Amino acid sequence: MIPPASTASPSKPAKRKAESWSSEKSSELYGVDTWGHGFFGVNKKGDVTVRLEDDEAKAEVSLFEVIDGLRDRGTHLPVLLRFRDLLHSRIAEINESFRKAIKETKYRGEYRGVYPIKVNQQRQVIEEITEFGKKYHYGLEAGSKPELIAALAHMHDPEAYLICNGYKDEEFIDLALQAQKMGLRIMLVLEMPSELDLILERSRKLGILPNLGVRVRLSTKGSGHWQDSAGDKSVFGLNASQVIAVVDQLKESGYMGCLKMLHYHQGSQIPNIAAIREGATEAVRMYCDLVKEGAPMGVLDIGGGMAVDYDGSHTNFHSSCNYSVSEYCTDIVEVISQICDKAGVAHPNLISESGRAVVAYYSVLVFNILDVTSAQTSEEAPPIPENAPQNLMNIIEVNKVINKKNLQECFNDAMYYRDQMRAQFFYGAATLRERGLAEAWFWHILTRISHIIAELDDDIPEDLRELSSTLVDFYYGNFSLFQSLPDSWAIDQVFPVMPIHRLNEKPRNRAVLADITCDCDGKIDRFIDKEDVAKILPLHDFKPGEPYYLAVFLVGAYQETLGDLHNLLGDTNVVGVHLEKGKPVYTHEVEGDTVADVLSYVEFDPKELVTRFRTFAEKAVTEGRISPKERREILDLFREGLAGYTYFES
Ligand SMILES: *Cc1c(COP(=O)(O)O)cnc(C)c1O
Repeated sequence: MIPPASTASPSKPAKRKAESWSSEKSSELYGVDTWGHGFFGVNKKGDVTVRLEDDEAKAEVSLFEVIDGLRDRGTHLPVLLRFRDLLHSRIAEINESFRKAIKETKYRGEYRGVYPIKVNQQRQVIEEITEFGKKYHYGLEAGSKPELIAALAHMHDPEAYLICNGYKDEEFIDLALQAQKMGLRIMLVLEMPSELDLILERSRKLGILPNLGVRVRLSTKGSGHWQDSAGDKSVFGLNASQVIAVVDQLKESGYMGCLKMLHYHQGSQIPNIAAIREGATEAVRMYCDLVKEGAPMGVLDIGGGMAVDYDGSHTNFHSSCNYSVSEYCTDIVEVISQICDKAGVAHPNLISESGRAVVAYYSVLVFNILDVTSAQTSEEAPPIPENAPQNLMNIIEVNKVINKKNLQECFNDAMYYRDQMRAQFFYGAATLRERGLAEAWFWHILTRISHIIAELDDDIPEDLRELSSTLVDFYYGNFSLFQSLPDSWAIDQVFPVMPIHRLNEKPRNRAVLADITCDCDGKIDRFIDKEDVAKILPLHDFKPGEPYYLAVFLVGAYQETLGDLHNLLGDTNVVGVHLEKGKPVYTHEVEGDTVADVLSYVEFDPKELVTRFRTFAEKAVTEGRISPKERREILDLFREGLAGYTYFES
C-alpha cells in the first residue's frame, strides 16, 4: 500500500480520515515477517527487535535501546551492529538442513560446509565461524593468498576442509601442501589447466602428494545477476575438453590418484531453485564420469549461490529466492543421489560454499536522519503577475480547471508549460523571476493534485502513481552508500530499510534516502516491495532535535569490504551485541576510521597536514588577519577535525 502523499509540515490537509495505527501495521508495511527470518520483529512499544539468546534466556532486544545504550557510551552513528547469534543460527540451520536431507534421502555421503572468506573477511567473522562451526567440522574456502594465510592461522580442525580456489603461485601452493602435511584437509582446486604443471612440480619438490580438485565450467547458466558466472563465457573453471586434458595428463604422469574432488560455482544469489537443480545435475554427471575414468574422487563441492530473500517476496526476483534453506538442501541431495545411483557410483561427500546465506543476517547498519527537504509542496497559490509570458499564464489557467477526472491531463499540461518556461528562460525570453513563478505554480498544482489523489483512497490509478512519485521528501541519512551499501549502488540490489522506532505511529511521508556524499548516485530510491520494487519508503515526520533512526538490514555479506572511500567517508563504527544473563552486552567495539586515517589511505601525512596548516595560520598572524589566540583556536579545531569521525558527529 502506498500511503497518501503528504507534506512533511504539520499543516495537514484537514480532510484526512483519522486512522488508528499499530506496530503490527508497521510490521506488515515494512514486511518484517517476510524478510526477517524470525530474527527481527516489531514490539508493542513500536521498536524493531532482534531475537538473541544465551544459555539461559531468549530475548527480543529493541534496536532503539541498543543504539541508545551506545550513544550513552559515546559511540557515534552510523554504526554497524553485528549479532553473532544470527550467524550461529544460520550456520546451524544450513548444517542441520543438510544432515536432515541426507538422513531422509538415505544418502551415503557426509556434508561438510566451508565458508568462503571473501564474503566477509573480518577477523571477528572468521573467529565466530571457526569457533562455532567446530561441532559441524565447518571449514573455510580461500580464493587468494591473503585468505589462505588467514585461514591457516584460524582453522585447525583436521576433519574440516580447507578449499583453495583462485590463481595460485608457487608460494600459495607450497603453503597449502605444507599445511596438508601438518594434518589439514586441504584441497587444491585447478581453476585453469596451466596450474597443474606448477602444482605437480612443487609436489615433487616437497615430496607431498596434493589433494586435487577440478573446477568445472557448467554449460547450465545460473540465474539472477551472476548468471554468467557459469556458462561458456565464464572466466573460471575448465570446460569439458580441458577437464579431459587434465585427466589424461594426470594419467600419464601417474598422479591420477590425487584427483579427489569436482567443484563448480554457479554464481551468487541464485534466485531460482530450478537453476540450482540443473547445475547440480550437470555437475554430478561429470563427477560420475570422472569416477569411471579412474579418479578416486570422493568429494563434490557445489560452490555457493544459495540466495537470501532480501525483499521477502519468495520469488525468483534477483533480490529474492523461491526456495528455503531446507528445500535447497533436499533438492541438492536428491539430484546427486539419483544420478549417482543410476550410474552405479558411490555417493560423494558434499561440500557447499555458501557465503551470502551464512552472513547476510549478521549485520545491521543503523544511521540517523540529519535533515529532510520536503517535497516542494505549496498549499498557497502564488501571486498572479501582470504582463506575464503566455506559458506562465497557461499554467495559471491549468490550476483553475483541476478536478477529480482530469488529474493526469492537468499534470501533463502543467509539466509542459513549466518546461516551455524553462526553454524560454534558456534563450533569454523570460526572466529568472518569471521562471521562478512558473515553477511555484507548477508545485502548487502538484500539491493540489496530490491532495485529490489522497482522497481517492488506496487505489491510485497506475498512471498517477508516477505523479505521486514526484512528490517525495528527501531524507538525508548520516551514512555513505558507497562505503556501507556498495551493492545498492553497483548492482541495484535492494535491502530492507526501515525506521527502528516510532512504529506505533503511521508513517505519513513518502521518502527517498540521500546519503552525505553529495554524489547524485548516493541515494536509495528503490525499496523492497512484495510485487515489484517500490520507489518510495514511507517515513515519519522528522522532528528537528529528536533522533530518528533508520536501519538497513541483511548487510553482512559483501557490503563491508567492497565499500570504498568515496568522498573520504571511512569505515563506520562497529559493535557486536549478544545476550548475557538475558541482557544485551556490547563487545568487539571497533572504532571507525578517523579523518586522519582516511587521509593517510590516500597518502596524506596527517602530521604534515598540521604543519602546512600551521604555517599558513602563522602567516595570517604576521599579516594581522588573525590574533595569536585565534591561531591557537583554529589549530585546535583543525586537529580535532583530524582526530574525529568522518561522518556527522552530534
Ligand atoms: C563468491 C564465491 C562463493 C560464495 O558465494 P555465495 O553466493 O556468497 O554463497 C563460493 N564459492 C566461490 C568459488 C566463490 O567465488
